[in-house]
Amino acid sequence: MTDEIHELIIVGGGPAGLAAGIYAARDGLDCLLLEKGMAGGQIVVTAEVANYPGFPEPLAGMELARRMEEQARAFGLRIAEEAVTGLVPEGRSILLRTAAGERRARAVIVATGASYRRIGVPGEERLAGRGVSYCGTCDGPLFAGGRVVVVGGGDTAVEEALFIARFASSVTVVHRRDSLRAGRHLRRRASAEPKIAFAWNTVVREILGGEKVQGVIAEDVASDRRREIPCDGVFVFVGTMPNTGFLEGAVALDDRGYVVTDIRMRTSVPGVFAAGDVRADSVRQVASSVGDGVTALLEAECHLAGLEG
Ligand code: NAP
Repeated sequence: MTDEIHELIIVGGGPAGLAAGIYAARDGLDCLLLEKGMAGGQIVVTAEVANYPGFPEPLAGMELARRMEEQARAFGLRIAEEAVTGLVPEGRSILLRTAAGERRARAVIVATGASYRRIGVPGEERLAGRGVSYCGTCDGPLFAGGRVVVVGGGDTAVEEALFIARFASSVTVVHRRDSLRAGRHLRRRASAEPKIAFAWNTVVREILGGEKVQGVIAEDVASDRRREIPCDGVFVFVGTMPNTGFLEGAVALDDRGYVVTDIRMRTSVPGVFAAGDVRADSVRQVASSVGDGVTALLEAECHLAGLEG
C-alpha cells in the first residue's frame, strides 16, 4: 500500500468491472481493479451462457469470465484480491477503505454486483451445504438420481432447474404464484422437460432433515394447507441482494440498497460511477453489464479530463 492516487479504481471483477478494466487498460489509464475473491462475478456459477452475442455455441459462465479476465490482463490491467469496506469522497479524490488498508483514486467504478437471497425458513441455515444449495452449477451433480426441490419462479430458478434435471430423477419447482416470472424461452423448455413438475401457489415453510435434507414443508398460499414434499436437495433461487454495504451513507442507494445512477452511470458522488447488477435500473444480463461497464469507464475518463482542465 502506498500514498499513490490512481486515476481509476474499479471495485468488483464481474462482467461490468472487467469490461471497464479492458477499456481502461487499453486506453493506458493508471487503473487498478479490486476483487474480494475470484474474478468473474455471478456468471462463474452459471452453467451455460447462451445469449451473449458473438458466442453462438453456449459457453460455461466460468469460461466466459476466464476469457474476459485474460483479455483484461493482456491489456495490462492490474487486479488485486482485496475486499473494499468503505468509500469516502475527499473532494478531488476518493478514499477506499479496504481489508488491507486505504487506497485513493480520482475516479471509482463500483461494479460489486449482487448476491443470492435466502428464504429465511427453519432448517435453511442449518442444512446449508447438507442438501440446501444456492448454486445448481456447483452442486447439481451431487444429486444424481435424487429428488430435488427448487424454490423460485424467475429466470435463475428455471434455468437452474433445467440444469439440475440433467442429474436428478425429479425436480419440483415450488413457486409462490400461479405463473412463472421467467422468460418465454425458459418457460417452454421447462414445461417440455418430463423430470420437472411445478407446485404452484406454494411456499416452503420449513426444510426438514437431521444430518441431511429429507424434505420440505410446503404450504398452499390460498388454503394455508401444509404438506410434506420428500426430497434430497433444496435449491433456493429467489433473487438477489446488492453488494453495497460499503457504500451506505456515502452514495445514494434506493430502498432495496441498489446504487442509484443516471443513464451515464453517474452516482450521487462526483467521480463515483456504478455499473452492472449493483445498479438500481440494471436489467441484469451479462451483455447489459458489459455495456454499463464501458459507459461508466467513458464517463470516468470525461471526469478525469475535467479534473485536469
Ligand atoms: P428474480 O427475477 O427477481 O426472480 C426471483 C423469483 O423468486 C421470483 O419468481 C419471485 O417470485 C421469487 N421469490 C422472491 N422472494 C421469494 C420468497 N421469499 N419466497 C419464495 N419465492 C420468492 O431473480 P432471478 O431469477 O435471480 O433473476 C435475476 C435477474 O437476472 C433477472 O433480471 C433475470 O432476468 C436475470 N437472469 C437472466 C437469465 C437469462 O437471461 N438467461 C438467467 C438468470 C437470470 P415472484 O415471481 O412472485 O416475484
